[in-house]
Amino acid sequence: MLNYSSWIEVDLKQFRKNILLIKSYIKDAFFCLCVKANAYGHGLIEIAKVAENEKVDYLAVANLMEGIKLREANIKLPILVLGTFHDDQIKDLIDYDLEITISSYFKAKLVQDYCTKYNKKCKIHLKVDTGMGRIGVKPTTAISLYKYIKDQKCFIIKGIYSHLACADQKEHPINNIQIKIFDDFLNKIKPDKSTILHIANTAYLCNFENDLKDMVRLGALPFGCYSKDLPKKFENIKSIFSVKSKVSYFKVVEKDKGISYGYSFITKAKSQIVTIPVGYGDGYSRSLSNIGSVLIRGKKHPIIGTICMDQFMVDVSNTDAYIGDEVVLIGRQKDKEITIKEIADECKTISYEILCLFNERLPRVYID
Ligand SMILES: *Cc1c(COP(=O)(O)O)cnc(C)c1O
Repeated sequence: MLNYSSWIEVDLKQFRKNILLIKSYIKDAFFCLCVKANAYGHGLIEIAKVAENEKVDYLAVANLMEGIKLREANIKLPILVLGTFHDDQIKDLIDYDLEITISSYFKAKLVQDYCTKYNKKCKIHLKVDTGMGRIGVKPTTAISLYKYIKDQKCFIIKGIYSHLACADQKEHPINNIQIKIFDDFLNKIKPDKSTILHIANTAYLCNFENDLKDMVRLGALPFGCYSKDLPKKFENIKSIFSVKSKVSYFKVVEKDKGISYGYSFITKAKSQIVTIPVGYGDGYSRSLSNIGSVLIRGKKHPIIGTICMDQFMVDVSNTDAYIGDEVVLIGRQKDKEITIKEIADECKTISYEILCLFNERLPRVYID
């Protein structure tokens, strides 16, 4: 890491463990790993390669471009594109052997027209909106749409799926309503045995014990996170994401001196202050200004002043921290840990967003 002063460590050993633990939990259901948004910040291609080696069954991405990147990296697993598409993307979706989400008659006809014109077939999953209110055909229309696509020669129906809106709130009444709407729909259409039915995400696995259907679509859980703390049954599934840096500057500052942009922090006493070469330009949220903390020499130290694009300051008055010391922004140091969940709480968001904020400016280092 000589060329970098700050970096992200991804623990592939633990990732493999997480995958094995999930496999044993889901038994014979297929495991679809969601690698959208750069595999939740962990690195699209590297994560997909491990997934392929570990015999995960499916990958899911949000859009065409993410699918193309996987195919160009020679990933052979089936890839489901969860989002929608425009007519000028159909050619590549088919040529790159990506499985298309059909979420309306309109979208079905776009694909059908293309396939008829160029004599192609395509693999699809029918998306039913049982209550998420995002994309997906209404359950009432879904019956006729299903019959329609079944009659067209160009469609290979690989799956039928839906997505829960409030699965992280165990007691929310919409959960069972959505599940029932999906089940009623499936009972009416009686899909072929080979059609993969799927509805479960991380929150579903955390909160519901039964009926995982034929496949689970998981992003957060394999990366050891969730919008809340993981339940006891997943206690051995751990985060694999750390953010690390090295102290780049040290100074002693007198009492009553302003630190960083806007002087949102004024020293209350003579202080020892260090600078860390990470900022919101890397994806370390500016909301952590004067709120977050980091680990240096096995202790937590507060961030002081506004986080800049490339650097921020930390008060280390209680330690003799110095230039070159390892800094942990997320992850473990000695017996202390700063979790993604803690950072998310401090930023008033969820762990998912914290992971996605980290861009390519910090290199990913894979520990194996
Ligand atoms: C992202 C996504 C998932 C995975 O959600 P997690 O909470 O990360 O497990 C599943 N299904 C759909 C449709 C998604 O967009």
